[in-house]
Amino acid sequence: MNSESPNNIDQHQQTARIVIVGGGVIGAACAYYLNQSGADVTVIDRGAFGQGCSHGNCGYLSPSHILPLCQPGAVTSTLKTMFQKNSAFSIKPHFDLSLFNWLLQFARKCNHKDMLHAGYARQALLDSSRELYLSLFQANILDDCELHTDGLLFVHDQEEHFHHYEKTDKLLQDEFGLAAKPFAGAELTELEPALKAGIAGGWLYECDSHVRPDKVMAAWKRRLEENQVEIIEDCQFQSIESSNGTVNGIQTSTGLIKTDQVIFATGALTPTLGKQLQASIPIQPGKGYSLTMPRPKVCPKYPMIFEEHRVAITPMDSGYRIGSTMEFAGYDSTIREERLELLVNGAKHYLKEPMAEPIQEKWSGWRPMSSDGIPMIGQLPKFKNAWIASGHSMLGLSMATATGKLVAELITQQTPHVDPTPYRVDRF
Ligand SMILES: Cc1cc2nc3c(=O)[nH]c(=O)nc-3n(C[C@H](O)[C@H](O)[C@H](O)COP(=O)(O)OP(=O)(O)OC[C@H]3O[C@@H](n4cnc5c(N)ncnc54)[C@H](O)[C@@H]3O)c2cc1C
Repeated sequence: MNSESPNNIDQHQQTARIVIVGGGVIGAACAYYLNQSGADVTVIDRGAFGQGCSHGNCGYLSPSHILPLCQPGAVTSTLKTMFQKNSAFSIKPHFDLSLFNWLLQFARKCNHKDMLHAGYARQALLDSSRELYLSLFQANILDDCELHTDGLLFVHDQEEHFHHYEKTDKLLQDEFGLAAKPFAGAELTELEPALKAGIAGGWLYECDSHVRPDKVMAAWKRRLEENQVEIIEDCQFQSIESSNGTVNGIQTSTGLIKTDQVIFATGALTPTLGKQLQASIPIQPGKGYSLTMPRPKVCPKYPMIFEEHRVAITPMDSGYRIGSTMEFAGYDSTIREERLELLVNGAKHYLKEPMAEPIQEKWSGWRPMSSDGIPMIGQLPKFKNAWIASGHSMLGLSMATATGKLVAELITQQTPHVDPTPYRVDRF
């Protein structure tokens, strides 16, 4: 137990035992804030802690990513590109009813009103997470994460696309109070000399930061273990033991664990537990890739998204990463070389020195893509003491701290610091 607990859960009941299924960034943040509120927390993972989607992502903490993928016009543009061989966004043609339903739900959300609704819900978690992360970094609770707070550059190769973004910038300013700084032509290469000349321009979001995600997971692990949170690896959740809608324990691959509360922070795998959880969970695995290598000699200062190629790069203190692509191919974990080539070719288009040798890691991860672009955070309708924290799509790292705090507040019946309504599990 953590003796620093500010809102001791023992005020309400005897020390509650809480089991979190899933040791990704969401499970880790839930564990941290629940431990802070005085609970006795155990995290189980079917593999190793921090080795799921939270391991090799691009490391952006990006409050700029307010707008969801489901936007007006997204269906047409997606249909145009999804079956193209070299598209960053692809759907592997295969029969999958859950994917079909997910696409239908996604399509229904591609309108202005739902886009704004998702935007407000995302912004609340993104902004709060930013503040919480900065305080955790400043207090060295999360240490050695290679944090940089220079911002994030959205780079446009074509004039037309650079200027077209003015519309998005205006929408973000008017609706969400978020403004980017434009840098056209030579101004951009002056700001970021690692870029080739001749690129139309970029938009800088100074509110964004970046970290090395595997180091963040290592820091969470150190801190949780120091605070006596139990982490059990190679322990797979199998089923819920319950009576009258109250969970008493969970069956796992290593035996029964008794618990007062259970939280499923199982990322893209959450829908595979749907029968056990007795809920509709419209989440699809959106596969992305990354390549990690040493820093090139002409290493960018800024993390950048190359908009036309949908490729992202992350300069880290201890390395350099190229990432992205979105593939809906079910739970397929094969690393396809042609997808990695897309990343490299994208980076080559924009950067003077896009690569360095040797490649240290070729990685793929399943983003937990919710159909409406909003995470699912809240109580499972069929149980009094079972919860979900999943579906963070492309923003799990960026939204983790506020998610963890919110879950702790809901479970300990504190006033939530963000309105939990948009994230409710029973909205589908
Ligand atoms: C290429 C790429 C780049 C990205 N870049 C960014 C970025 O820059 N910024 C950002 O915010 N987000 C980014 N993301 C998204 C982000 O990585 C995810 O949203 C986030 O990692 C999801 O975290 P999670 O904890 O929900 O899932 P995970 O990290 O996948 O954790 C879930 C855990 O649950 C465990 N689990 C599942 N089922 C069971 C079971 N039955 N029993 C026990 N354990 C189980 C898994 O083993 C896993 O460890 C990116 C993703 C990709 C693929």
